[in-house]
Amino acid sequence: MDVRELYQELILDHGRRPRNFRFPDGANQSAEGKNPLCGDHVIVKAVLHDGVVEDVGFQGSGCAICTAAASTMTEVVKGKSRGEVDAIFHTFHDVVTGKVPPDLEELGKLAAFAGLSEFPMRVKCATLAWHTLEAALDHKPEAVTTE
Ligand code: ZN
Repeated sequence: MDVRELYQELILDHGRRPRNFRFPDGANQSAEGKNPLCGDHVIVKAVLHDGVVEDVGFQGSGCAICTAAASTMTEVVKGKSRGEVDAIFHTFHDVVTGKVPPDLEELGKLAAFAGLSEFPMRVKCATLAWHTLEAALDHKPEAVTTE
């Protein structure tokens, strides 16, 4: 199995069995995101204490890419500071849009989404949960939309 197949497996696995597919107890940050192009819809809720994301989860319905991206996001940002979340999202965004070669050690499972740079329509699916998390942490109650 080459690395590309491993990445496809990872996305399929997280798309079928999303991690943290629930709202965390004591969530104090929340936002809703929609990607009308694909029909993706997510609600992200997080527990933010002293500037650190202590817990995060999501609910909603989306395509496999959207669900897998939201699932891997919740795993990666847990325990990270607001600034670290920003930095990871910026790197992830660059990778899915093909701006920088994926740094495997830094990105871990997020590198699985690097192949999306060939499919610009799917980039919105992969970044929806991230935009929604950022809105939640920024206390923006209005729904995020990729349009
Ligand atoms: Zn989608």
